[in-house]
Amino acid sequence: MHDFKVSRINPLFIIIPLSLFLVAAVLWDLVPKQQEPIEKTAFAMGSALTVTLYGGTEETADQISQQVQLLEHRISPTVSDSYTSFINRNLSAVTDADYSGDLRLFMEWGAETEGAFDLTLGAVSALWDIGGENERVPSEAEIQQAMKVSGWANLVIDGNTVRIPEGMQIDFGAVGKGMACDEAKTVLQADPSVSGAVVASGGSVLLYGDSPDGAWTVGIQHPDKEIGETIAELQLEEGFVSTSGNYQKYFIRDGKRYCHILSPQTGYPAETGLKSVTVVADSGALSDALSTACFVLGYEKSLPVLERFDAQAVFITDENEVIPTDGLTDALTLQAA
Ligand code: ADP
Ligand code: MG
Repeated sequence: MHDFKVSRINPLFIIIPLSLFLVAAVLWDLVPKQQEPIEKTAFAMGSALTVTLYGGTEETADQISQQVQLLEHRISPTVSDSYTSFINRNLSAVTDADYSGDLRLFMEWGAETEGAFDLTLGAVSALWDIGGENERVPSEAEIQQAMKVSGWANLVIDGNTVRIPEGMQIDFGAVGKGMACDEAKTVLQADPSVSGAVVASGGSVLLYGDSPDGAWTVGIQHPDKEIGETIAELQLEEGFVSTSGNYQKYFIRDGKRYCHILSPQTGYPAETGLKSVTVVADSGALSDALSTACFVLGYEKSLPVLERFDAQAVFITDENEVIPTDGLTDALTLQAA
């Protein structure tokens, strides 16, 4: 007898794993995957403009930076043919409905912040030139001279014509980056394929739509540590967040710190016991303007102003105490020291 061995593989050993594999492959394809966001960085409004889109297209991301460049071209005092430069050079200029409308609104904010937000301090800022090449402590006489012609109450808006007294300089430094976030939102609203986005222009941030993580996380910079090291975090829904601080632009003379946010009352850098203020509001311009205004006002005086504008804030005091307004207590997490 021959030992007869047939070596035959049962076809089921192939068919079952193969069909399992196919079913798994089809199912995997049906599982919604976390899409890679589109990320773009540009330079605008004197600082980085970073765009992160979930959904949407490259074109939408590009359109955001184009719109922000256009805005910069209209409002920046360092762009020679902006409306602001025309006004600052010629003491009077015919602008358009958008520009004069914004300026009118910002004058109202001047009144509603007890004068703390004042975009007519350009001449005073120029004397200090903080962050520039000629930073210095100006003489008392120079400051008083520049202060005499500054102040939003001296600005005249007649239809679309804007007039300033000789010596005044309009400066959008305290709202420009927030306005850039407003422009970004308008672009995003025109692209329904965007599910969520984060747009940051310097210290102003737009949180748009839904975050893939449920809520958006915004870090608050630690005032004494390297850029990127946070002192606290906010978990937020859609909205605008801006931070103003005395650690961003400053110089130290004879042991004293001079920062770039000025008190419109004195013409000197604001000193109100704060290192930074982060404001959450419904518009970018508002969050930016209020972060500057609250820094000037200090904690106590800021509270009624924030309430008036239905905005929330986180204050970092000179002692590195982190104080949120009531509406942000739950959203705030302190970083371990
Ligand atoms: P950032 O420079 O990070 O945008 P802010 O939003 O606080 O910070 O704006 C500060 C800028 O606004 C200054 O560099 C100056 O140009 C201008 N500025 C300074 N003090 C005031 C003020 N009290 N009101 C309005 N603008 C101001
Ligand atoms: Mg500001």
